Amino acid sequence: VSDWQGRNVTVAGLGVSGISTARALAGLGAKVTVVDGGSGDAHEARAAEMAQLGIAVRLGDAETLPAGTDLVVTSPGWKPSSPLFAAAAAAGVDVVGDVEIAWRLRGPDAAPWLAITGTNGKTTTTRMLASILTAAGLRTAAIGNIGTPIVDVVLGDEPYDVLAVELSSYQLHWAPSLRAHSAAVLNLAPDHLDWHGSMAAYAADKGRIYEGNTVACVYNVADPATEELVRAADVEEGCRAVGFTLGTPGPSQLGVVEGLLVDRAFVADRQKQAQELAEVADVNPPAPHNIANALAAAALARAFGVEPAAVRDGLRAFRPDPHRIEHVADVAGVAYVDDSKATNTHAAEASLAAYGPIVWIAGGLAKGATFDELVTASAKRLRGVVLIGADRALIREALARHAPEVPVVDLERTDTGAMSAAVREAASLARPGDTVLLAPACASMDMFTNYNKRGEAFAEAVRALADEHA
Ligand code: ADP
Repeated sequence: VSDWQGRNVTVAGLGVSGISTARALAGLGAKVTVVDGGSGDAHEARAAEMAQLGIAVRLGDAETLPAGTDLVVTSPGWKPSSPLFAAAAAAGVDVVGDVEIAWRLRGPDAAPWLAITGTNGKTTTTRMLASILTAAGLRTAAIGNIGTPIVDVVLGDEPYDVLAVELSSYQLHWAPSLRAHSAAVLNLAPDHLDWHGSMAAYAADKGRIYEGNTVACVYNVADPATEELVRAADVEEGCRAVGFTLGTPGPSQLGVVEGLLVDRAFVADRQKQAQELAEVADVNPPAPHNIANALAAAALARAFGVEPAAVRDGLRAFRPDPHRIEHVADVAGVAYVDDSKATNTHAAEASLAAYGPIVWIAGGLAKGATFDELVTASAKRLRGVVLIGADRALIREALARHAPEVPVVDLERTDTGAMSAAVREAASLARPGDTVLLAPACASMDMFTNYNKRGEAFAEAVRALADEHA
C-alpha cells in the first residue's frame, strides 16, 4: 500500500468508479489527476469537491495525457481506442481499471473472490450467490458491476469472509492480475462488439475471469464457447472445470433431475453419486434461464464449501432486481411482465422462452443487432407483437420473414407516451391466460433515460389499465 506514496495517477472520468478510485488512491498518498471531457456547472462543482481532497481535476480535455503520469486508471464507458489510452501506450504508461486497482490494493487479503461474468444474467446470479452465502452464515457483499464501488469495499473497515463479484467484459479487459478463488462465465452472445472490436476479443476478455482460479472454473454446458474458455485458461493446479446444465448432470456437473437442482461435482459423501440442493420451485422466477443462473450461483457457493441447505435457503430468500422479468399485475386474466432489462436479443430470447402465448412489446435502439434468430426461436409463442422505438422496422421485417401470420401493431412512435399506447394495443391483442411481455431486445435511450425508466413507464401504464378494470 505504501508504494502509492507520491505516484502520479491519472483517472479517466468523474463518474462513480472514477471518483471512488481517485479518493482511495489520494488517501494512500498518490498524486491524482482526474481528466474529464465535460464542462459546465455540475462538473465544476464536482471538481471543487475533489479539490478539497487534494485531487486535481482537468475538465474539457479527456484526450491528452497529463505530464508525469505513471499510471492511468480507466472507467467502464471508455473505449480501449480512446485517445488518452493511445497516448498512455505511446508513453509506455500502464492502463488499468478499478477492479485491477482493488486487486492490487488488497488482493485476496480482503476476502476470496467468487467472480461472475457473461453476456446476460450477471447481476441476477451475483445477487443469488450473495443470498446463498448469507444463508450459509458468511459475511459477504455483492459488488463489482453493481452496488458499492469495488475499491471502497476492499479498503473499507467491514470484514468479509468471501465476496460475490460481478465483472463486465470491460472490467476484465483492464484487470490483468486478478485471480479469483472460482469463477463462472454464464453465456456468450454477441454484445458490445463496438467496444471490443470483435467477438473473439470479447470472448477473450470474458475468459480472463478464469485465469489463475484455484478451486473451480464454472461453465455452461449448453454454451460450448464457455467451456472452451476454461480449456484455454491457465489455472492453479487442482482447479476443476465444473459444468451446469438444465438437463441431467454428468460427473463434475450441476443440473436438474425430476424438478430438483442436483450437484454431482461437490459431493462430500463418497457413498453418494449426487447431492440434492433445492427444488426448481425455489428459484424465483423459475424460468429456464433463471434456473441456469441459480445452478451457476450454486456451483460457486459449493466450490466455496457451502452446505446444500444454505443453497436452498439462499435461493428461497432471493428477490430479483426490478425490471428483470418482474410480474407487474394481472388485468382481465392477462399477466403483465416487465423485462425492460432485456436490452439485447439473447436476453429477450430467454424471457420469451419462459412464457406461453405472449403479446410481445419490443423495439428501441438495436445497437447493430439482427433479429432473425430471435424471431425464429420465438414465433410459435407469439399471440401478437407491438413495436415501439427507433429501430422497430428491423424487428418488423424479421417478423414478416419468419412469422408472417403473427399480427403486428407498429406504433410508429418514439415519444415517451408511446409506452402507454403500446400497453393498450397489447391489451387488445391479448386473451385471458396470455402474458403481455415487455422484452424490448433493444437499448432504451431513444425514448428513455435508461431501462429503469422504460420499465417504470410500462408498469405505470399497466397500473392505469388495472385501475380502469377495478
Ligand atoms: P446482466 O447483469 O448480465 O445485464 P441481469 O441479471 O441484469 O444480467 O439480467 C438481464 C436480462 O437478461 C434479464 O432481464 C433477462 O431478460 C436476461 N437474462 C438473465 N439471465 C439470463 C441467462 N442466463 N441467459 C439469457 N438471458 C438472461
